[in-house]
Amino acid sequence: MTENKYQTAEKTIDICVVGGGPAGLQAAIVVKELGGNVLIVDDNPILGGQLIKQTHKFFGSKLHYCGVRGIDIATIFSNRVQDLGIEVINDATVVGYYDHDTLGILRHDNLFSLKAERYIFATGASENMLAFDNADLPGVYGAGAVQTMMNVYGVVPGKRALVVGSGNIGLIVPYQLLQAGVEVAAIVEIMTKFGGYYVHAAKIKRAGVPIYLKHTVIEAKGKDRIEAAVISEVGDDYTCLLGTEKTIECDMILIAIGLSPLCDLLYHAGCRIEYIPELGGNVPYHDTNMMTSKPNIFVCGDLACIEEASTAMLEGRIAGARAYESIYGKKGEAETIVKEAARELAIIRTSPFEERIVYGKKHLHL
Ligand SMILES: Cc1cc2nc3c(=O)[nH]c(=O)nc-3n(C[C@H](O)[C@H](O)[C@H](O)COP(=O)(O)OP(=O)(O)OC[C@H]3O[C@@H](n4cnc5c(N)ncnc54)[C@H](O)[C@@H]3O)c2cc1C
Repeated sequence: MTENKYQTAEKTIDICVVGGGPAGLQAAIVVKELGGNVLIVDDNPILGGQLIKQTHKFFGSKLHYCGVRGIDIATIFSNRVQDLGIEVINDATVVGYYDHDTLGILRHDNLFSLKAERYIFATGASENMLAFDNADLPGVYGAGAVQTMMNVYGVVPGKRALVVGSGNIGLIVPYQLLQAGVEVAAIVEIMTKFGGYYVHAAKIKRAGVPIYLKHTVIEAKGKDRIEAAVISEVGDDYTCLLGTEKTIECDMILIAIGLSPLCDLLYHAGCRIEYIPELGGNVPYHDTNMMTSKPNIFVCGDLACIEEASTAMLEGRIAGARAYESIYGKKGEAETIVKEAARELAIIRTSPFEERIVYGKKHLHL
C-alpha cells in the first residue's frame, strides 16, 4: 500500500468497500471478478470481520461453507482477495463521510481522505449492552469481545462466567469458554425458551451448564472487580419477581443480548435510516439491490440487518454486482450473480428462524 496516494481526495477509486467481513469481501470479490476497480478499507490488521474469531464449524449448505470453521472461511476469502490483486487498506478506520462524498480515514496517526464513485458499506454490528447495578465493574464484557480475546489474542478473560442471553452467540461463546478451561456458572435468558439453535443449546446442557429461563441479571457484586452476580426470575411482564433473587459466584458477566447495525457512517452520509426492530433496530433503508436512499451508496451484511454470515455473503454479492453495474453498465454476468444470490437468500429465508427478517425486509421496502 502506498500511503501518500490518498493524501488528497482524488477520484482514483471507482468502488470503495468499507468493512472486510464476509459481506464486504464478497462484494469486493464480485466487483473485481466482473472487471471493476475496487478497494477495501478495514480497521482490523487482517481481513475476515467476525469470521476470524469463529473457531466453530458453520451450518447451512455446502455452498455456504457448512462444516468449515469461520476462521478458515476468512482465509479462503482473504486468499481470493490477494489472488485477484484487490487493494486493501487495513488497520484503517473510516471516521467520517464528508462533503463531496469523501471519506475520512484514520490509519495509525495518519488522517487522509478518499473519494470513490460508489461506496459499499459493510461495517457489521456492535454488541448491545445492558444496564444493571454495578454494570461498570471490570469483568462485564460483550460476549463477542470475549470471543475476540480468547480466539484471536489467546487471552483467557476469567475463571468463572455468567452469561446473559441464549441466542447463538450466548450459546457458542460459553462453549468456547469451557474449551478454554473456564467454568461457566450459568446462562440466564429472559424469554421462556432459548433463542439460538437447538444443537448449540444441547451441547451446553450436556456440559452441565444450567440455562435459567425467564431470568435476568440485576446486579454485579464486588469492589474493584466482579465477585458475584445477582439474578432474578421475571414475571410475564418481564419485571423481576421479588424474593426469587439468587447470587452466583463469578468473576465475569458476558452480555449476549443481541447486536445493532453499525450505521453511524450512513447517518453521516445523509442516508435514510429506518427503525425496524426485526432487522436489529436502526438500519439504512435499502432496496432489493442493496442500494440505499443515496444512489452512490450500497449496504450489505449485518449493517443491513442482523442475520448471519451466509446471508451477509449473499447480500455482499448483490451489492457488489449492482454497484459494478451502476458504474460500468449492465452485464449479463452481473445479472446472473444477483439472480443466483437472490434465489439462495430466498431459500435460506424460508427457515422459521428467518421469519422476522423476511417481515423486516418487507416492511423496509414498503
Ligand atoms: C459469536 C458469534 C458467532 C457467530 N456464529 C455464526 C455462525 O455459526 N454462522 C453464521 O452464519 N454466522 C455466525 N455469526 C454471525 C456472523 O459472524 C455475522 O453475521 C457476519 O460476520 C456479518 O458479516 P459482515 O461482513 O456484515 O460484518 P462483520 O463480519 O462484522 O465485518 C465488518 C467489518 O467491518 C469493519 N469495520 C466496521 N466499521 C468500520 C470502519 N468505520 N472503518 C473500517 N472498518 C470498519 C469491522 O471491524 C469488521 O472487520 C456469528 C457472530 C458472532 C458474533
